[in-house]
Amino acid sequence: MNIAILSRNRKLYSTRRLVEACEQRGHTPMVVDALRTYMDIASNKPQAHFKGEPLPNFDAVIPRIGASITFYGTAVLRQFEMMGSYPLNESVAISRSRDKLRTMQLLSRKGVGMPFTGFANNPDDIGDLIKMVGGAPLVIKLLEGTQGIGVVLAETQKAAESVLEAFMGLKVNIMVQEYIKEAGGADIRCLVIGDKVVAAMKRQAMEGEFRSNLHRGGSASLIRISPAERATAVNAAKIMGLNVAGVDLLRSERGPLVMEVNSSPGLEGIEAATGKDIAGMIIEFIEKNAKPHRTKTRGK
Ligand code: ADP
Ligand code: GLU
Repeated sequence: MNIAILSRNRKLYSTRRLVEACEQRGHTPMVVDALRTYMDIASNKPQAHFKGEPLPNFDAVIPRIGASITFYGTAVLRQFEMMGSYPLNESVAISRSRDKLRTMQLLSRKGVGMPFTGFANNPDDIGDLIKMVGGAPLVIKLLEGTQGIGVVLAETQKAAESVLEAFMGLKVNIMVQEYIKEAGGADIRCLVIGDKVVAAMKRQAMEGEFRSNLHRGGSASLIRISPAERATAVNAAKIMGLNVAGVDLLRSERGPLVMEVNSSPGLEGIEAATGKDIAGMIIEFIEKNAKPHRTKTRGK
């Protein structure tokens, strides 16, 4: 198959591994920088061009769209969908997952476990908002943050009020969340492909830090997950409409709680922690599922 990997840089670990896995399995990969792809939309035959040349009709497209280029990246992916390519994750599902609040709302409707979460716009409502999620200590999150930046632990009611007031004054969107203390600064990344968790790792925050992101100095290790954790992760990916997802869970006294669903999960940490060939499994999934025009987002 002709497989496009939408990625800005062919040297990135995940991109390299996906190229390798395509080649090993007899496919032809092409790394395509979404920001250098432009689109011919105004004709009855949608096309995508790259550095002066029309791109072929790929059998499948693997989106690796960074959070900072979500708008343009998903537009390019959508163009390939219009051309009939099979997207590993659909553009609509990626856009959906990039909004943490929207993710929480969709998961809550289906009864997926999550930390008590609140959202407000007006500083006058801060007092009740804090009460709603169970009071301090609590976690305050910028909706557009990634890699743990913009995630703050407010230990007291006063601290929570002033951080919330400050963020609201800056007109940024924030979410307030119950702090899951018993997670002990650890979370679990479940890598979902199709209807299975194919790999899981525990990420532990460094001493004196509650955020376990690897970018914040967290360390990864192998972990066995429970059937309930497995089911929660698979269900979360399914509700979001993602074929491949990194689902982050917190272990709490009331069971697994979903914190985030990532549509471009990094492969480096999880392949290193588990020794598994995740890139190969992704290509295998594409082999089994890719069909022309197999998306739900075409409209009619
Ligand atoms: P990002 O998308 O920026 O990684 P997250 O929402 O995943 O933001 O939060 C970053 C880290 O902070 C998580 O990996 C987790 O370790 C910790 N964390 C986030 N929310 C909570 C919470 N409600 N309770 C306890 N720890 C949390
Ligand atoms: N950069 C990736 C994204 O924005 C997240 C990597 C990860 O934590 O898995 O989707």
